[in-house]
Amino acid sequence: MEFRLIERLRELTAQQRDDVALSIGDDAALLVPPVGQHLAIALDTLVEGVHFPHGTAAADIGWKALAVNLSDLAAMGASPAWALLGLTLPNADADFVEGFAEGFSKLARPHRLALVGGDTTRGPLAISVTVHGFVPPGQALVRSGARIGDAVLVTGTLGDAAAGLQALQQPLADDDSRANLRAFLIERLNRPMPRLSAGVALRGKASACVDVSDGLLADLGHICADSGVAAEIDAALLPRSSALMALYDEASALQFALSGGDDYELCFTVPAQRVADVQADLSRLGCGVTRIGRIVEGDGVRVRAVDGEWMTTNHAGWEHFA
Ligand code: ADP
Ligand code: MG
Repeated sequence: MEFRLIERLRELTAQQRDDVALSIGDDAALLVPPVGQHLAIALDTLVEGVHFPHGTAAADIGWKALAVNLSDLAAMGASPAWALLGLTLPNADADFVEGFAEGFSKLARPHRLALVGGDTTRGPLAISVTVHGFVPPGQALVRSGARIGDAVLVTGTLGDAAAGLQALQQPLADDDSRANLRAFLIERLNRPMPRLSAGVALRGKASACVDVSDGLLADLGHICADSGVAAEIDAALLPRSSALMALYDEASALQFALSGGDDYELCFTVPAQRVADVQADLSRLGCGVTRIGRIVEGDGVRVRAVDGEWMTTNHAGWEHFA
């Protein structure tokens, strides 16, 4: 498709790297993988109306399409290097590509990530990005390493993005202070910040790690299933933003924090004696981190309510075990 659009993408995402021998423009890119490192590769696709609402700004889509992929590298403890971009556009919309590339490169630039190729086709708006990164052999953060007695921790705050999506769908006539809180939550939805430096800091320290894309319970559930263990979470310990707590009642805020997707925080496990160490490391990076529970024998994720009772799900979400 449109040579000019691809040329514009190339210009706006230009990034000098010695390990890129040939970038956008030929039939394939030529890359120089570093000796002695594992190559970490991940692909995520965003479809309009499924993964982001219709009407999302092009720059937000560009940022998020890259962010969700970098988050997968963060969850492996890998450092990003290269990306491929599959763009499916309803028409050759130069303004869209301009905005998209602006959002994409705003996140790519500080990480020195090079866009080295891709494909552009016509169809309903969808974006798929493949990212490539490096991690020293034996140091990747896999999902299968959690052990009984490990502590469960999470970076940042949970539930903001899901609350932001609801805020978008229910526009209210707000006073100014509430409008600011809503804008914070919507920013968390549209501009997730992949926890790359935290992932690197956790190399060789976390026993298991996952990024929270589908909600804490679902993603921690993957660690439990792959590690052959269970997790117990204390609802009272879940880190939640002041914006979330100000705009929603306790039950809704808890629901968002447990089951809301799109936060792209890291949930990880560490041996109990290493918790203070890891907390200090991440704090030094300016990354908030909270201990929320522990790994026990069994399977699945259990949640203890503030009053000490176990919680259970019904069709509407989580509630007290009645
Ligand atoms: P081919 O038909 O040989 O695949 P294309 O016209 O699809 O050639 O692509 C030409 C060049 O532009 C290739 O180097 C390809 O990697 C790059 N390219 C195409 N679309 C994109 C895109 N959306 N993002 C980055 N590079 C792209
Ligand atoms: Mg092609």
